[in-house]
Amino acid sequence: MSLVERDLKVIWHPYTQMKTALPPIPIVRGEGACLYDEDGKCYIDAVSSWWVNIHGHAHPYIAQKVAEQLIKLEHVIFAGFTHPTAIELAERLLNILPSNQQKAFYSDNGSTAVEVAIKMCLQYWHNQGKQRTKILAFKNAYHGDTFGAMAVSGRSAFTAAFDSLLFEVEFIDLPDPSNIENLKSQISNLKSELACFIFEPLVQGAAGMLMYEAEYLDQLMSHCRKEEVLLIADEVFTGFGRTGKPFACDHVSTPPDIMCFSKGLTGGTMAFGLTTCTQQIFDAFLSDDRLKTLFHGHSYTANPVACSAGLASLDLFLEPSTKENINRIATGHRQFALKIKDHPRIRTTRQTGTILAMEWETASDTSYFSTLRDTLYKYFLDAGVILRPLGNIVYILPPYCITDEQLSYIYSKIESALDEV
Ligand SMILES: *Cc1c(COP(=O)(O)O)cnc(C)c1O
Repeated sequence: MSLVERDLKVIWHPYTQMKTALPPIPIVRGEGACLYDEDGKCYIDAVSSWWVNIHGHAHPYIAQKVAEQLIKLEHVIFAGFTHPTAIELAERLLNILPSNQQKAFYSDNGSTAVEVAIKMCLQYWHNQGKQRTKILAFKNAYHGDTFGAMAVSGRSAFTAAFDSLLFEVEFIDLPDPSNIENLKSQISNLKSELACFIFEPLVQGAAGMLMYEAEYLDQLMSHCRKEEVLLIADEVFTGFGRTGKPFACDHVSTPPDIMCFSKGLTGGTMAFGLTTCTQQIFDAFLSDDRLKTLFHGHSYTANPVACSAGLASLDLFLEPSTKENINRIATGHRQFALKIKDHPRIRTTRQTGTILAMEWETASDTSYFSTLRDTLYKYFLDAGVILRPLGNIVYILPPYCITDEQLSYIYSKIESALDEV
């Protein structure tokens, strides 16, 4: 039996239409921006394997650090015990985050990092005997697939089966010059009930790489701060260089109270989540009263192997060549966007750092389920490029190590798709 046949017998894949989806492509090896199938064909990973990979696949330095950790200590309970790798990763990350971030809470993935952040905020108020239980979020937000994370995400086809069970959230529009004052008064009207505001800074990835300006985010953040609404920056996607700076919050002057990380945290090596917070939040749980404890802990909290991948990825991230690569990709994207922006099939292009999104003209459906999406996906795969359009939005966000040749090849395939598909 082939790998595909064996897969189809036993595996249930995420986000895959059961009856009509293309069969999965077995990948047996990765190197740099390339993923190789059994026949040695390279697929250029132009979406960084669902946005997680930043330094390339099977990076030898990360592999070595992980292997060293594995034979020293693979795991230890993280309640009542600690280990040096978790401490070092927290010290080094807090050192490069906004200076108000003082404590690190580990978990398993992006969704759990968000769950922890939401629980920290709700219990922060609960521990002080204050009735602030509402959460503010952006329309079209995506914060994960677990129930709490789903509740603070926009209602969509993905949440439809569960909508009646999701707790109520106040959703507001993305800020722009025309609505910013209105958004501020909406917040002021709700302030005494609002526990926190959760947002994807600068880029709403899953919504279709929707982008908004740092200046207006900053105004919203500082307004929330004034009204004592806690700020949760969900940097699960934008963290670790995606937006051109180390973190999307480096583009604003108001520091958030809480930050969530996952995806790039281990360089795309393994699942891991991190929620950081201020001393003020931590202190609201510091008590002799056992009921003030944050009762949240996953079996694999602060797994030493995941921490070692995080440390190795951080070493690579802080090398000057990574910053150069990020700038090189951003420049390439800018030039390519200029070249195609007047093509009759391009509605708009938008870019933040290493993320370039192109909205295609289409007479038909623009949803995630559009036929154009499926046609483009297959067209790029046949050309050896992994691009997964979100409806009629084609986006590129490659690992930072992608070569100029690989980047040019992706651009050329997008250009030919514009003329041929
Ligand atoms: C992917 C994503 C999540 C969820 O992360 P998982 O590791 O897939 O659970 C949360 N927030 C944002 C902004 C994301 O892009």
